[in-house]
Amino acid sequence: MKKHNFSAGPCILPPSVFEDAALAVKDYDNSGLSLLEISHRSKAFVQVMERARELSLELLGLKDKGYKALFLQGGASLEFLMVAYNLLEKKAAYLNTGTWSSKAIKEAKLFGEVVEVASSKDANFNYIPKNYTVPPNVDYFHCTSNNTIFGTQLKSFPDSNVPLVCDMSSDIFSRSLDFSKFDLIYAGAQKNMGPAGTTLVVVKEEILGKVSREIPSMLDYKVHIGKDSMFNTPAVFPVYVSMLTLEWLKELGGIKAIEKLNNKKAELLYNEIDRNPLFEGFVPHKEDRSNMNATFNLKDDAHKENFDLLWNKANINGLNGHRSVGGYRASMYNAMPIESVQVLVEVMQELEKNA
Ligand SMILES: *Cc1c(COP(=O)(O)O)cnc(C)c1O
Repeated sequence: MKKHNFSAGPCILPPSVFEDAALAVKDYDNSGLSLLEISHRSKAFVQVMERARELSLELLGLKDKGYKALFLQGGASLEFLMVAYNLLEKKAAYLNTGTWSSKAIKEAKLFGEVVEVASSKDANFNYIPKNYTVPPNVDYFHCTSNNTIFGTQLKSFPDSNVPLVCDMSSDIFSRSLDFSKFDLIYAGAQKNMGPAGTTLVVVKEEILGKVSREIPSMLDYKVHIGKDSMFNTPAVFPVYVSMLTLEWLKELGGIKAIEKLNNKKAELLYNEIDRNPLFEGFVPHKEDRSNMNATFNLKDDAHKENFDLLWNKANINGLNGHRSVGGYRASMYNAMPIESVQVLVEVMQELEKNA
């Protein structure tokens, strides 16, 4: 029986996507060949790559606005350094809201000076710093839109005259934003788009080519753009599955439609976390709470054994919190149906009744 999968990543995808992907592995589009054995230079796959790139821009509302979409490898973690390699000449500004921001900062420091404009490390990253300014004399400002581990999310982004770079790995395509505010967006596929193995990069072309250092070909966004994201063999299967998920999202009505559903799911769970006397949210300020990853704890660990038993029995998977936070984390990515969240809420209510 299919589980209610609250895993933080790699994560749930729509059932129809799994089915279509399985078919393509057996026989791609009645070609007599598996998707996994066709040339990435074949017309069939070039079309897949082009469709995936086009859908990305279309869903984000960035078509014909000077942006290019790339499907690269190396995960979001490689983007931590590629961003700096391509954009950091002297000094960059970073907002530190968690583990992933901290890792991005560490890599950027290899290339130049990093100004940390604000950090929520003082409270184990359970809030989003608000009153900071982006210095005008930096090459770019970098932030993480959703902090997968801590369950916080940026609800607004600073206005500034420097390029805005954002790691959107865990909330891309989940909510409407004015994406044209951003100059470079990157996201590992495995949180809201597809299987692990590819990273979406959406970059405004005009910000590239401004650093004086030489950039190795594989790490140069301009090289990948010049080769239509086919400089070397791309991650054929992850790109194909990402394309299927993006088609699914488009048919559903795009980001606006999924956002409504995501808001409903998050509201359902957070209401229960706040109402149920046995639980408390990890993130105290409601406006900072993530709609993708809800982090919460039992007020009294005496209930832990019983709660773990109940949710396992209810066929729920992946609810344990990250080791740096503890407690529980319910990841409710795009493909999660509200029924799964309802099951979790019922388990929490059952625990309360039995307590
Ligand atoms: C998961 C995650 C990463 C790391 O992604 P990899 O693809 O494993 O390198 C980076 N940033 C955020 C916000 C994430 O959620």
